[in-house]
Amino acid sequence: MKVLVTGGTGYIGSHTCCELLDRGYEVVIIDNLSNSKKEVVSKIEQITGKKVKFYLGDVRDKELLRKIFKENEINFVIHFAGYKAVGESVLNPLMYYENNLLSTINLCEVMKEFDCKNLVFSSSATVYGIPKKLPLKEDFSLAATNPYGQTKLMIENILKDLYASDNSWNIVILRYFNPIGAHASGLIGEEPNGIPNNLMPYIVKVANKELPFLNIFGNDYDTVDGTGVRDYIHVVDLAIGHVLSIEKINKDKGIFIYNLGTGHGYSVLELVNTFSKVNNIEVNYRIVDRRPGDVAECYADTKKATIELGFKAQKTIDDMCRDSYKYVINNK
Ligand code: NAD
Ligand code: UDP
Repeated sequence: MKVLVTGGTGYIGSHTCCELLDRGYEVVIIDNLSNSKKEVVSKIEQITGKKVKFYLGDVRDKELLRKIFKENEINFVIHFAGYKAVGESVLNPLMYYENNLLSTINLCEVMKEFDCKNLVFSSSATVYGIPKKLPLKEDFSLAATNPYGQTKLMIENILKDLYASDNSWNIVILRYFNPIGAHASGLIGEEPNGIPNNLMPYIVKVANKELPFLNIFGNDYDTVDGTGVRDYIHVVDLAIGHVLSIEKINKDKGIFIYNLGTGHGYSVLELVNTFSKVNNIEVNYRIVDRRPGDVAECYADTKKATIELGFKAQKTIDDMCRDSYKYVINNK
């Protein structure tokens, strides 16, 4: 079985490639390296002892996609490629709509041309908008609060329409909660450009003395200690969720939507304290104002993924903190 992984040198894509290769799938990657490095390909090969076919290029380039489908008999596509920074999407919405929507539409058109209609798509918990009730269930109402979230919501709708028009498609939409951590080898992990927006990459940079302190955005929420609560999931568990999704559409036909989280929320302070404890390092922080647009709490109902995919996150918050830091230490 051959899997085309768009965005396969990125953070989640690279970990998914490893899990696929470990289970005997062949992997073909297309990535334009706009947010990742070519070296990731050899790291994936080093971890798994398997070869990967890499195409440097853009998913918006239909001719390149056709070439890939001609040269490889692709059975499944996992579509990670896209931009993902919320703040940047507010400043430059056209860039987000252009890349995220066009790449998905082009990809589906070429998949259709080559009669490869098995797709797993990276969506996000952001499509739930401001949670009215927790934990978040797949059938809750959806809303986007920024252009990035809009692209995810629009793509989910495009995929639903596509399936309604032709139910020979098999599609899994995965709504990720907050992926953190890195591969236990320390060879691949998350490497955001510039000053990180997300919590764990920021903590790691503070621990590493690249930034002086963490700004904790508010300690007056109605949560366990006043700081924001999120459902952090280890990226390797998340990656395994993609393999299970492929197995799912290999046996059951249709369109499926699943949350991928642990179902358990941790506060900012809990994450910071756990990070300090397991890595035996201090993380300086100060409390500042709330970040506009943030919600107090967000965590998944994971029952559907457990029952239908057999998905259960295995790794603990300690593992997540240890592996996130290990990657940075290894790659200093
Ligand atoms: P990432 O930026 O590390 O990986 C995305 C990869 O896609 C990068 O390697 C980038 O170079 C590539 N890419 C972007 N546009 C491309 C294009 N047009 N053609 C070819 N390659 C392109 O991001 P990630 O964290 O691995 O996220 C993967 C997917 O998961 C994204 O769609 C993201 O929106 C979604 N997601 C991520 C998170 C998260 O917290 N990391 C949460 C929810 C959803
Ligand atoms: N957060 C923080 N300081 C930071 C980055 C994030 O206090 O520098 C908080 C944020 O307010 C939220 C949690 O950490 O409560 C997770 O934020 P992140 O941006 O990682 O994920 P998201 O809010 O998109 O789920």
